Amino acid sequence: MTGATLLLNATYEPLCVVSSRRAVVLVLAAKAEAVDITDDEVHAERITLAVPIVVRLTRYVRVPYPVQVPLSRRAVFTRDGSTCVYCGGSATSIDHVVPRSRGGTHTWDNVVAACRRCNHTKADRSLADMGWSLPHPPRAPSGAAWRLLGHRAVDPRWHAWLGMSEPVSA
Ligand SMILES: [Zn+2]
Repeated sequence: MTGATLLLNATYEPLCVVSSRRAVVLVLAAKAEAVDITDDEVHAERITLAVPIVVRLTRYVRVPYPVQVPLSRRAVFTRDGSTCVYCGGSATSIDHVVPRSRGGTHTWDNVVAACRRCNHTKADRSLADMGWSLPHPPRAPSGAAWRLLGHRAVDPRWHAWLGMSEPVSA
């Protein structure tokens, strides 16, 4: 049993990802209930249990979260759908909208996914210099799904619980 299980709070709010082994232990201890299960079974304490994909805590826990999602290449690609914000092509790089050489910051509101060609063409010029525009201003992502993106790929079977309709490419 090497899978991963999405752990929901008692309120069904996604909390984190735990190992399936840990999820089974929580279910056996009545600390969590299986919400969605796999076809796989695990034998434990003389009972047979379906390996859970999603479990929900039976009691609410209060958890503090970091205020902002950490900025990473993968997170930017995920936010922008792995698409170049300038031409709609396949993104392969990160562009600073206001170039760093002009005082642009390495922050969520100044980084976008871009293809190599647009990135190279724009170089250290501004959008005004280029006569380019953005479809919408870049923003720091928020929401339950983003808390989980930092450390692992998202199982498609978790999407409904994470408020995602589209698959997230990892
Ligand atoms: Zn492009």
